[in-house]
Amino acid sequence: MVACMAVKIAVLKETRANEKRVAMVPAVADKLVKLGAEIHMQAGAGLAVKLADAAFKNVQFAADAVELVRDADVVVCVQPPDAAVVSAMRPGAILISFIYAHKEVELTKLLRDRRITTFAMELVPRITRAQAMDALSSQAALAGYYAALMGATHLARILPMMTTAVGSIRPARALVMGLGVAGLQALATARRLGAMTEGYDVRPETKEQAESLGAKFVDTGVDARGTGGYARELTQEEKDKIAGVVTKHIQQSDIIITTAAIPGRPSPKLISKAQVDGMKAGSVIIDLAAEGGGNCEYTQPGETIQVGQVTIVGPLNVPSMLGEHASELYAKNQFNLIELFLKEQQVKIDWSDEVIAKTALTHDGKIVNEAAAKAIEK
Ligand code: NAD
Repeated sequence: MVACMAVKIAVLKETRANEKRVAMVPAVADKLVKLGAEIHMQAGAGLAVKLADAAFKNVQFAADAVELVRDADVVVCVQPPDAAVVSAMRPGAILISFIYAHKEVELTKLLRDRRITTFAMELVPRITRAQAMDALSSQAALAGYYAALMGATHLARILPMMTTAVGSIRPARALVMGLGVAGLQALATARRLGAMTEGYDVRPETKEQAESLGAKFVDTGVDARGTGGYARELTQEEKDKIAGVVTKHIQQSDIIITTAAIPGRPSPKLISKAQVDGMKAGSVIIDLAAEGGGNCEYTQPGETIQVGQVTIVGPLNVPSMLGEHASELYAKNQFNLIELFLKEQQVKIDWSDEVIAKTALTHDGKIVNEAAAKAIEK
């Protein structure tokens, strides 16, 4: 009888600036070991979220990333790995990570040429069965929550109504623009903090979702539903129609949280310079779309700026600021994906599974995601 070698999973320490997350937490490592995997981690991989190596049982540690991945069957991380790591992986091994191929053209070509099977976390389809693997959603929910807290801490006033011996304080007004996963969480959090909340989106189905969270919906009469539950780009006529309605709401808000995105496009501009110039003194914009250039014309990604009496915050990698929970949710998302192909202590990929097929970026020497192949190879 031939002894079956355990599937070796290697967990990298993140190297990119301002990345605190780690792709493994002790509870997930335990579950993977039960599935028959052997976990090898880079020493200190969890330190940025206060997870010491000693917190991981049944895990072996190595200092060097290149040595760690050499004979790994599966490599997991949060941000795209360094080229040196990919070059050390064995052909046919699996990589699971966020990649964003359009921003990582050379790395994607290297993954293709090294014959790595890459599952890119941003490609997990937004279907009901894949919800437990959807890291875009888990991370966006945390970012939305944190945006409301950032807004609150940049204000020189409180959010709830308060009755005091010297009179009553009126509640703050919070407007959330873009009601996807992050936006709905921001609305819910601002409301829990005591603000009066309003929400706006170009997908009409978000009206009911906003109202179920106790918010008023700012109805612009524009329906810009695109494909797959996403929004499409607006025409100039639609933009003008929206501005006519939302300007008043922008200018009476204390906190504005913007989260609008259109897949594959730069962040749509929802707040013009002229609209900011008319905002209340002391108000704050938290632009969660800063990574894609920002929803406000003044936003400077990664900076907090003052425009007149308005503070505009353009935070980058907000999930990393909540590294402990972001890592926990991300590791669970990856576990649910790994469970699809880790069967009977072996890697068995079922390419007829929609989640597997759509999440794959490279396989067997090819870029198998159509959009990425088109952008990179044609
Ligand atoms: P996203 O990050 O792509 O965009 C955020 C929001 O911005 C969206 O609600 C979008 O409609 C809005 N937006 C775009 N342009 C705008 C504009 N000009 N003005 C105002 N708002 C604008 O969105 P997301 O959070 O990734 O969610 C996208 C969709 O996917 C939603 O329909 C969501 O319900 C759906 N979803 C489904 C699942 C699932 O079924 N498993 C999981 C997650 C998300």
